[in-house]
Amino acid sequence: MNDYDIAVAGGGLAGLSLLYHFARAGKLRGKRVLLVDPERKSVHDRTWSYWERGAGPFDDIVAHRWERVTLANSTGHCTCDLRPYAYKLIRSTDFYAKVNPVVDAIEGLTYLPARISSVEKTPTGARLIADGKEYKADRVYSSLPHPLDYREVRQPYLDQHFRGWFVETTEPTFDPDRPTFMDFRTPQAGETRFFYVLPFSKTHALVEVAIFGNHHLTTEAYDALLRDYIGEHWTRSDYRITHSESGNIPMTTYPFPRRDGNLIYIGLGGGAARPSTGYTFYGLQRQLARMAAAYPEPATVAPWPARHLLYDATLLRILERSAVAGEEVFVDLFRRNPPARVLAFLNGESSLWEELRLMSTVPLAPFARHFLGETLGNRGR
Ligand SMILES: Cc1cc2nc3c(=O)[nH]c(=O)nc-3n(C[C@H](O)[C@H](O)[C@H](O)COP(=O)(O)OP(=O)(O)OC[C@H]3O[C@@H](n4cnc5c(N)ncnc54)[C@H](O)[C@@H]3O)c2cc1C
Repeated sequence: MNDYDIAVAGGGLAGLSLLYHFARAGKLRGKRVLLVDPERKSVHDRTWSYWERGAGPFDDIVAHRWERVTLANSTGHCTCDLRPYAYKLIRSTDFYAKVNPVVDAIEGLTYLPARISSVEKTPTGARLIADGKEYKADRVYSSLPHPLDYREVRQPYLDQHFRGWFVETTEPTFDPDRPTFMDFRTPQAGETRFFYVLPFSKTHALVEVAIFGNHHLTTEAYDALLRDYIGEHWTRSDYRITHSESGNIPMTTYPFPRRDGNLIYIGLGGGAARPSTGYTFYGLQRQLARMAAAYPEPATVAPWPARHLLYDATLLRILERSAVAGEEVFVDLFRRNPPARVLAFLNGESSLWEELRLMSTVPLAPFARHFLGETLGNRGR
């Protein structure tokens, strides 16, 4: 007999969310549950933004929501009314404060503050080695990072690397009702580079630079881009940086393994990031809620519909090869379509009809060529 019914490797967004959804669905009553992570997450280590139609299950901890966003590139800008969608932001502190009590209330929970060195399936379930000791479970859900070298991946692959500053200005600078979703007004350097501004008040915003490309910058170089952008487009007066965050999200249609017997992969390492955008939060919650409802079988559900992965492979290849500039693709998508259609598509909840209408608004020749290339390429794999 195994030591646990369920073990969760890694207690970040995916691990904690899994336990939250499973506990809320009543699937952990009488179960022996193990959670392994060197630290229990509680502090501000990131902010999660996502968009959603109407009300959602995390609305009580949404710190800010916006119904309009601006996009800009070197040829102009557009302001989009997102309704019936809203763009929402959750601080990790509030997220952990909501899910941790639900996780802690799981009767059979053991929390193990330890580093895992390996996870693998066994004939009767799966096992993990943490700080040199073996723990066996009927099923292990692993959210450990899946190391991937873009040079060895045949599928399209672009890192989304970013750095953001929370700034407090001395003068009214931002419109708290209008975030900047993507602002490409910066030299693109042969990549896709944009800024992202989430205003919390007239004097307080998160300003972030994001780059789709496999060559990362030094912290000083990201900071220089942020400084120039703020000085050029927002304020020449003084401002204070109250907090900063940075990170990297692999954007790829690489087929992350989702299951190896009773070892189930979740989170970024399970392919939960939307390949064309890097957005993860919304799709991950939807996937884990469905897995909780279905437990014990099917043990996993796809984070994104298969045909969306083909669209994303097409777009990523186009960006990788600079066949069409990223600043054109993204701004034109919003300019030429109702924003709700684009947002439904990016959330993986659009109909085939909506997707065809969306495709009719992109440059036909490069998209058709790369779509065919990815479709035939995938067949050969
Ligand atoms: C700064 C930042 C901002 C982001 N913003 C957004 C956003 O706005 N919207 C969005 O949709 N997505 C966003 N993302 C992407 C994505 O939502 C997050 O990366 C999310 O945290 C991924 O969840 P995860 O569980 O896969 O990874 P994590 O949340 O990083 O959790 C992994 C856990 O595994 C643990 N771990 C790692 N190695 C071991 C080991 N050997 N043994 C035991 N435990 C281990 C870690 O301690 C960690 O707790 C952002 C990512 C970052 C980094």
